[in-house]
Amino acid sequence: MREFDYRRAHDVPGALALLDADPEARFLGGGTNLVDLMKTGVERPARLVDVRDLPLDRVESTPDGGVRIGATVTNSDLAAHPEIRRRYPALTQAVLAGASGQLRNMATVGGNLLQRTRCGYFADVTKPCNKRVPGSGCPAIEGEHHNHAVLGATEHCVATHPSDMGVALAAFDAVVCLDSSLLYCHTGDQLDSFLASCRHALAPGGLLVAEMRNGAYFLGRTDLLDTSTVDGFTWRGTAYRSTTTLTVDRTAQLLCRVRVWTSDDGAPPLEQRSAWRLLFPLELRHVLAAHGFEVLELHDGPGPRTEPPWREGRLPGSTTDADRLHLVARLTAPR
Ligand SMILES: Cc1cc2nc3c(=O)[nH]c(=O)nc-3n(C[C@H](O)[C@H](O)[C@H](O)COP(=O)(O)OP(=O)(O)OC[C@H]3O[C@@H](n4cnc5c(N)ncnc54)[C@H](O)[C@@H]3O)c2cc1C
Ligand code: SF4
Repeated sequence: MREFDYRRAHDVPGALALLDADPEARFLGGGTNLVDLMKTGVERPARLVDVRDLPLDRVESTPDGGVRIGATVTNSDLAAHPEIRRRYPALTQAVLAGASGQLRNMATVGGNLLQRTRCGYFADVTKPCNKRVPGSGCPAIEGEHHNHAVLGATEHCVATHPSDMGVALAAFDAVVCLDSSLLYCHTGDQLDSFLASCRHALAPGGLLVAEMRNGAYFLGRTDLLDTSTVDGFTWRGTAYRSTTTLTVDRTAQLLCRVRVWTSDDGAPPLEQRSAWRLLFPLELRHVLAAHGFEVLELHDGPGPRTEPPWREGRLPGSTTDADRLHLVARLTAPR
């Protein structure tokens, strides 16, 4: 196995920064799929970013009557959760139909959705496989294809997505929430590739709902950049303090955040760095149109993170002048 670096992330921006710092990094959930693929040489990451400490380990009821399932909830906890068993029994049954008790104790929801195909040719680097090496061929078409696609096969690949859980989630019309993913598309290529993935995943008419930082806000305004903000809390008798400083990298069109944590227990200061893409309203409209999306709403608030935040009954604004942009776009072009 190739030597690799192992890091443990404690918050989402930190996890993304660790991933971003190395193009050959991968997130690690329970490792039940990724580590197997590393052993056979299919995956050769230079760095693993362990996401199991992220605060995404809860199943919560939402005000609209649904549930929100965190990416690091284990498959076992999901299947056993009383609300899932009561309201979505097919999801419990689908999860329990897969793998084994030991694997489900380790496997996470995020890892389950992002696991790679279980096609034997994919896992064997001595064999051709279009999914692993595009253009090399698909031996499964003539060879071993037991358990492969009944629907959705193509001349290039006849493997199914292997997740049993995913089938139940699709049946319940689950929505995969990618948080502020657009913000972390720092380059034009990353933005193109993200929107191409959204286009591929959505049926025509499907909605893309996102929040961005607004480059236009920083034309001539420095109020968010002038002073650092200080915050703090006490946990188990230790006082923690954070000092957050924002700067703009104009060349890269990034809003950069440095947050330094100190505590009164003598631990050394901890520095977290994040950066968010700044897009201009017309630039965003242009790139969305290029990927087949029609913009239905683009406004600067109220939204979930504006001050004051959005409350039920408040209508969207009609300006795009503040530091956040809220987007609703509909896929019009076929995939
Ligand atoms: C023997 C065996 C039998 C199995 N049988 C079944 C079965 O019958 N049905 C079934 O559905 N599954 C089955 N599985 C697959 C199993 O469900 C998956 O291995 C498991 O769900 C993967 O979750 P994980 O957390 O271990 O992911 P990992 O192996 O840690 O990661 C898998 C992928 O997801 C990415 N990833 C992980 N977490 C995140 C995150 N939070 N955000 C972004 N990316 C992330 C990783 O980078 C990696 O690419 C089986 C597995 C084994 C080994
Ligand atoms: S079905 Fe073919 S292309 Fe798809 S994973 Fe298997 S061998 Fe690769």
